[in-house]
Amino acid sequence: MINLKKVKNPMPEQDPKVRARNFKEVAEGYTAEMAINEAMRCLKCRKKPCTKGCPVMIRIPEFVAKVAEGDFEGAYQVISETSALPAICGRVCPQENQCEGLCVRGKGGEPVGIGRLERFVADWHRVNAVEVDTGREAAAEIAEAGKTRRVAVVGAGPAGLTCAGDLAQKGYDVTVFESLHKAGGVLAYGIPEFRLPKAIVAGEVKKLEDMGVKFATNAIIGRSETVDELFEDGYEAVFVGTGAGLPSFMNIPGENLLGVCSANEYLTRINLMKGYLPEYDTPVQQAKRIAVVGGGNVAMDAARCAMRMGAEKVYIVYRRSMDEIPARAEEIHHAIEEGIDFQLLRNPVAILGDEKGYVTGLECVEMELGEPDASGRRRPVVKEGSNFVLDVDMVVMSIGTKLNKLILETTSELDANDRGGIGTDEGAATSHLGVFAGGDAVTGAATVILAMGAGKTAASSIDDYLNK
Ligand SMILES: Cc1cc2nc3c(=O)[nH]c(=O)nc-3n(C[C@H](O)[C@H](O)[C@H](O)COP(=O)(O)OP(=O)(O)OC[C@H]3O[C@@H](n4cnc5c(N)ncnc54)[C@H](O)[C@@H]3O)c2cc1C
Repeated sequence: MINLKKVKNPMPEQDPKVRARNFKEVAEGYTAEMAINEAMRCLKCRKKPCTKGCPVMIRIPEFVAKVAEGDFEGAYQVISETSALPAICGRVCPQENQCEGLCVRGKGGEPVGIGRLERFVADWHRVNAVEVDTGREAAAEIAEAGKTRRVAVVGAGPAGLTCAGDLAQKGYDVTVFESLHKAGGVLAYGIPEFRLPKAIVAGEVKKLEDMGVKFATNAIIGRSETVDELFEDGYEAVFVGTGAGLPSFMNIPGENLLGVCSANEYLTRINLMKGYLPEYDTPVQQAKRIAVVGGGNVAMDAARCAMRMGAEKVYIVYRRSMDEIPARAEEIHHAIEEGIDFQLLRNPVAILGDEKGYVTGLECVEMELGEPDASGRRRPVVKEGSNFVLDVDMVVMSIGTKLNKLILETTSELDANDRGGIGTDEGAATSHLGVFAGGDAVTGAATVILAMGAGKTAASSIDDYLNK
């Protein structure tokens, strides 16, 4: 039976006024009844456009049909064939531009809540299912037969974790080298607890440890040792998934004042170093009035964290309009509900400070939209003489990140691509024999699911390479 309701079953959420001051998860998740009801909205289209919209081609109608039947474990098994991190992707994937963007139900109403169902199924499995640990058994069998071959994974973000998991399942002896003290990459240090509880990320890392994957944290490859030295240590292949975490700044006057930081630094201090918990003495500035410059997911996360850290006023300063803003629709909606003030068509020109070097304001100009530029978006043009000052004591820059060149500079025969990332072929192989790469380190800042897909491709290529 098909449920003809035009709108999705609403997601239970914390009240905006309450949640704007706590770090608990905003979306509380479907109940089994809501999930079945939502799954029954699927039309079971023969052409499966939703699957085509998924970067890792999850068999969406099949898993949704299992949810409709109440077979949640069956649904989990379908998703697991192609996705390594469903509890994470169900929470953070930009479904509106992917699977749900192509859902036929979206034409006369809202698409099926595929992301919500994926999250439900993954959470259900986490709580109810008994793990069948095939990966660990396979790894143990191969190790016993004396065939274990060592692979190094550099970077413990979604690309590295997925690659490590797939390789361990194929029986390789995998060590993940991570420069921070905790595995997870952006999932651990960037995306805040209220969008992605860290217990979920830790659970995924634990699963890998149980499969025999080793983690060497506080290890900066390129400094502690180089990729070339990993081969000398006996690793037969190396996967580089080091992300693109180097922040960009605007190069405007005042960026060196006290109270200016990058969104990555701000979020790391709050999320990874637990600056939001009173029992941790993480140094994070408790500003009262904060401007976050930028309009992506990272900017929304920083602004919403600022609110939860006790700020009285939080601005998003973005140089285009709401039509061009790049953050996920849901994040923008949540930010508005939580009281973030969107200063659209505004661009900073200087950060102002007092005689002690502390931020006192953000000087901006008003913008209007001109002709489309190379990106196809209308170019923002300054309205002459429109300068004004936002009264703030902290400015968080969130205008994009780049690749840190350390690995490119310290690895022999490793070529860059034309975007400045690590160059690879379609199978994730780099110009250095035995070195593979994927995720943001190759593409520049992208998405969790694309990084995960790249980790899978690389694991398969590494397996082929080592069995040539
Ligand atoms: C705040 C924020 C919010 C985001 N929100 C979303 C979202 O809602 N949905 C979505 O799909 N995407 C989102 N993204 C983007 C997404 O998180 C990234 O595209 C994804 O994490 C990239 O995965 P990765 O494995 O390539 O790199 P990362 O997650 O960046 O992981 C790379 C890891 O490598 C480590 N590393 C770097 N250099 C070295 C070295 N030399 N030696 C050892 N280790 C090293 C880093 O410490 C890091 O842990 C967001 C990004 C940010 C910053």
